[in-house]
Amino acid sequence: MTTIDAFLPTATKHLVPPAAKQKQRLYGFTVETALEYLEAEGLWNEIEEPTGQRGGMLKYSGRVAAICRSVAWPENQQIAKHWLVCALIIMLLAIPFDWIAFPHALAAIVLGHGPVTLAAFILAYRAWRDERSELAQGIFSCLFSVAVMIAAALTGREVGGVNFERFIVLAYLAMATGLALLPLNTLWRWMNAAALNVSLIICQFFNPVMDGTAGWLFSLYFSAFLLACVVTRYLFEYRQIEMTILRLKEAQNTQTMKRMALTDALTGLPNRKAMMGDMARLLDEAQSGSLLSVAMVDIDDFKRLNDTLGHTVGDEALKSIGSVFMECAKASGAICGRIGGEEFLLLFPDTDADAATRALEEAMRHLDRLNIPNPGSRVADRVTLSVGLVTATFGDGSEHHADQLMRVADIALYESKNAGRNRITFMDPSTVESELA
Ligand code: GH3
Ligand code: MG
Ligand code: MG
Repeated sequence: MTTIDAFLPTATKHLVPPAAKQKQRLYGFTVETALEYLEAEGLWNEIEEPTGQRGGMLKYSGRVAAICRSVAWPENQQIAKHWLVCALIIMLLAIPFDWIAFPHALAAIVLGHGPVTLAAFILAYRAWRDERSELAQGIFSCLFSVAVMIAAALTGREVGGVNFERFIVLAYLAMATGLALLPLNTLWRWMNAAALNVSLIICQFFNPVMDGTAGWLFSLYFSAFLLACVVTRYLFEYRQIEMTILRLKEAQNTQTMKRMALTDALTGLPNRKAMMGDMARLLDEAQSGSLLSVAMVDIDDFKRLNDTLGHTVGDEALKSIGSVFMECAKASGAICGRIGGEEFLLLFPDTDADAATRALEEAMRHLDRLNIPNPGSRVADRVTLSVGLVTATFGDGSEHHADQLMRVADIALYESKNAGRNRITFMDPSTVESELA
């Protein structure tokens, strides 16, 4: 079974505990790698048929949710960074405003809003650079919340009177919005909530106008707001997981459609479009001195096989021949596909004509051993093949184009047919260049 390691960038691998340790941390997923992982681990079933009641929340396992969270990480990272920057801008803007309103509290304003908050901001902002720094994200966002509370308390204390309460409540509510927006994990979300509440309670001890029960009661009301923010974040995350699952499904559908568009339905081999794409890529990548052998294969008297044994038997024969070429391609590092009714194409990268001929002869021997009957054939009582082979050498001053190689291979194939079928004809592209011009 494929492990998560296969899907992670090398730099992140050491952070993934061995599979034996059950609690896997799933990081670094893109839509593509998530699709591969879900398929390799058989988790698609869970996505196709999640448990849950109609109208209620669908339930996904920890791993599916973790993968979705990882895919959605860039979005969450942006939210976290923007929230932190907005909070800092407000804090910095508050310096001149507070100073104008309360000039006597300048030292506290500058100290609280400046170094204390700025230091906590820098640490928190840096922690959101890396998906894996969950611990740092948790600790530094708590620190940032507490720093903002300290800044508010320092200023409020200097300003005095009812303004103390106003400052700390403002800071508390602003930081509570962070709990609705920051992508913290459960532990650190609640730790952050606790840190904010403890800060609020401690501040109340310094509240110069604290009026007993009513003051504590208001703190409790504010905690309810905090709780609402935490719940909002959970709901948002849940919707985010659902949205990510929709993205994954859409990507999977697109992948399937692309795969189908490039695959021959009968043999499962790449189709003509795919083979032309592969050939263009190989020609693009070809470097000076490299070779490309192209073999065009046509089944001999295949129409007669259909006429004598029926179309269904013909289809089965095509599938068997497809398998023979698949094995041949695997053994020789070639790419094979079905490019027409009873026509196949093999591309042998970095293979000279002799090596390609040997590979093709081996495939023909294999086919002989399969002994697929073709009673109507003029060549033998079994299925045989005719092949046209061409080898392009790069860097010899001549350019090679897919169309040109296909035409030369086609001419070579025609030669094979004319010479009695069941054979391979090699043709040098330069010898027919004048014909093609
Ligand atoms: P030659 O040796 O000259 O190539 O003769 P041939 O009979 O193989 O060539 P021809 O072009 O006359 O006939 C090709 C036949 O291939 C005709 C068609 O019925 C058959 N064919 C094409 N696609 C399929 C397919 O998907 N399934 C089946 N069973 N037959 C197919
Ligand atoms: Mg044909
Ligand atoms: Mg044929």
